Order: sequence, then C-alpha cells, then structure tokens
Amino acid sequence: MSNLALLGGRPVFECPLELSSIWPPTDEVTAGKLQELYFSRRWTAFHDAEPAFTEAFAAHHGARYGIFTVNGTVTLQCALGAYGIGPGDEVIVAPLTWYATAMAVRHVGACPVFVDIEPDTLCIDPDKIANAITERTKAIIPVHAYGSMADMDRIMAIARRHGLRVIEDCAHMHGGIWDGKGIGSIGDVGSFSFQQTKTMSSGEGGICITNDFDTADRLFRMKQIGYGFGELPREAKSGPPRDLTCYNFRATAFHSVILSEQLMSLDSRLERYRKAVRYLEDRLGQSTRIRFQVPGRKADRQGYFGWVMLFDDPMYADIPVGVIHAAIKAEGLTLIPGEGPIYRFILFNLGPEEYRIDQPCPVTERACSRMLWVLHAYLGLDRTHIERIADAIEKVISSPDELRRYARSLPAGVEKLQPVAE
Ligand SMILES: *Cc1c(COP(=O)(O)O)cnc(C)c1O
Repeated sequence: MSNLALLGGRPVFECPLELSSIWPPTDEVTAGKLQELYFSRRWTAFHDAEPAFTEAFAAHHGARYGIFTVNGTVTLQCALGAYGIGPGDEVIVAPLTWYATAMAVRHVGACPVFVDIEPDTLCIDPDKIANAITERTKAIIPVHAYGSMADMDRIMAIARRHGLRVIEDCAHMHGGIWDGKGIGSIGDVGSFSFQQTKTMSSGEGGICITNDFDTADRLFRMKQIGYGFGELPREAKSGPPRDLTCYNFRATAFHSVILSEQLMSLDSRLERYRKAVRYLEDRLGQSTRIRFQVPGRKADRQGYFGWVMLFDDPMYADIPVGVIHAAIKAEGLTLIPGEGPIYRFILFNLGPEEYRIDQPCPVTERACSRMLWVLHAYLGLDRTHIERIADAIEKVISSPDELRRYARSLPAGVEKLQPVAE
C-alpha cells in the first residue's frame, strides 16, 4: 500500500487548502469604509477615493501619475494606444504570460512578436530581443513573471538604441523594487492588474503608472471618454487629440477603497512571502532536485504572484508533470501548471498570420511543460502551513517510482493532459 494520497494513503492536509477561504483578504476596517461609501451613494470613479488611491499606488512605485481602469488588459491597450501604436506596427512580448499581454497588442490592431525567455528568471531574454526588431517594431512589453523580474537595465538599453517604447507588464509584480526603482516606473508605462487572484485585488481592476505628464494625460483621456488628466465631469477644458480613440474604462470607487487599504499592508505581505519562499527553497533545495525560478537579478524587493517550481531535472524526466500535479493535489495542495506559451493557450484566438514567432521559443516551451507553481496567497499562511506545503511536495517527489508506476497505469494520452489555468 502506498503512502501517497493519490494511491490511497493519508493526505498531508486533512482538509484541502481552499483558496476561497484565504484570498482576497478581508477586514472590518475595509468593510466599514465600503459601507460608508455605499450609503454615500457616490459610487463612481469621480469620488475622491480614486485619486487618493492612484496617487498612493503610483508614489509607492516611484511614479508620479496613476490612471485607474477596469482591468489589467485595457491598461496595456491604453499604454499602446497612448503612444499611437496600431495597425502595421509590431510589439515584442514574452510568451510566458497571460492572454492579455499579447491580446492587448491585437486590440490596438498591432502584431505581437514573441521572443523567448531566460531559463533562470523565466522573463524575456534580452539577448534575443535585438534579432526580432524590424522597422515596424514600436514597443517591448516585458512581463515581470511570477517571482522574478525582467532585466530592465538591458531592456531599457535596447529600447533606447532602437527608439522603442517600454511598457512593463507588472500584473504579477505589485510592490517590486528593481535596483532601487519601483517596478513599473522604469519603462514608459507600468501596467498592473487587480483581478481576483493578483497580489492586490479588488475583484477586477487595473492601473497604469508613469512619470510623464503627457503620457498620463493621454492615458486618462483614453480611459475616461476624452477628459484630460484628473478632470471632473462637465469640466473638460479641452477635447481629446484627434489621433486618440477614447473609451469608457472607468471602475468604481469601491475598487479604490478596497485597494487603498490593501496597499498599506503590501510590503509586510511581500516580506511574509519572501520568508516562506526562503524556507521552501532551503528545505526542498536540500531534499529534492526541483529547480526554482530565480528572482530578478537586481531585485531589492521581489514581488510574488507565485512561487515557481521546475521539474526538469533528468531524474524526473520520465514522470509526467500532470501526475506530480495530481499527486500533490491529492495531498491537499492545489498547484497551477504553466499557462503558456501563450500562443498555444486554448483561448488564444489569433491566426498564424496575426502574430509572429521569429525564432522558436524552446525555453518557454520546456518551462511551461515542466512547471508547477504556488499562488502567492498560500505563501502568506503561517509557518505550520508553509511546513506542510513543503511536506506535501517533498512527500510526492520523493516517491518517483510510484509516480512512474502510476503514470504507466494510465490509459495512453491521459498523462499528456495539461490543464490550463484560468
Ligand atoms: C492578470 C494579468 C494581466 C491582466 O489581466 P486582467 O485580468 O485583465 O486584469 C495582464 N498580464 C498578466 C501577466 C497577467 O497575469
């Protein structure tokens, strides 16, 4: 009889860890403020809560201006649109990301061009960017993925040399600091998401940050039907420029109230995440051959959307990741498999003529097929839980023979099933 819960043994977690019981965070102070807003009947984006939050969030990341929107996809669309990027243009993106990074390029009518990632940080490989640049290239969207950061020094140097815009996709990186600078404040625009699962969450929501007033004004006009930066309804002093298509991408004041409270505890939460990751990597680094994503090379404070494990040691080569995933889930811990390469994602709906992969992306292909990651919310649990997370992973990966036997017992093809995360 096996010890593994997958094969009938006792699970490490008697009750599985349910995400809905730990994330997003809730507290009485925020509940009180939401109730106050509710009874005030001033629910719109024009409430003071929005500028209060956008200013605090931008300042926290070393930027002057923040522009709040409904999600972290239209933030990217606004950033590209604000710079007049559109049909006929190309934008370089990393393939290890969420749907939004590439689709926002499409939403403005431009063509996403995929460039492979680095094997250690899992972020876009600066060595491979130059080759993908053509006379049509207008921008680079580096993604600061999971628990690392793209190499902003080298990306900015390439962008300056070729006159390209840099839009940082920081949807995974709230609170990160790269070489003394707030993440998102290094490129032309930083784009963040506040979707349900993100490190700061208001269910849905997004923000662009920038240090340039003209950019801030164009971003604001684009999301607020043409109003200039910070203008209130019926107080427009000028109309939007003719080259800018403006939308209504406004969120409500409820979003801002929730996020203002969360911002105050962001740094201490990231510190908890850091300690959890240190414990997990120290322990599993000794007892297993699992490889971990390397943090940003100049990360003064690493942000975390998740903690990534790669099961790519030759020792695990013949164990399907789907089986490891299922076995750890049976122990009561839900991990998430690789979401990319995004051009293979089931919902990706661009035809082969609508995007470009210059050179194949073997590093992304390999990482995606061999990775499993822990959503950040679990990293905020107390030490006992973190120890049991390590127990569950250690228990499963220390039984390679049983995992192989189980994989062989599956009908042909089943082990290839790679569920794709939401
Ligand atoms: C979540 C996410 C976004 C934006 O997502 P929304 O759900 O539209 O807020 C963009 N890029 C990455 C990398 C993401 O993870």
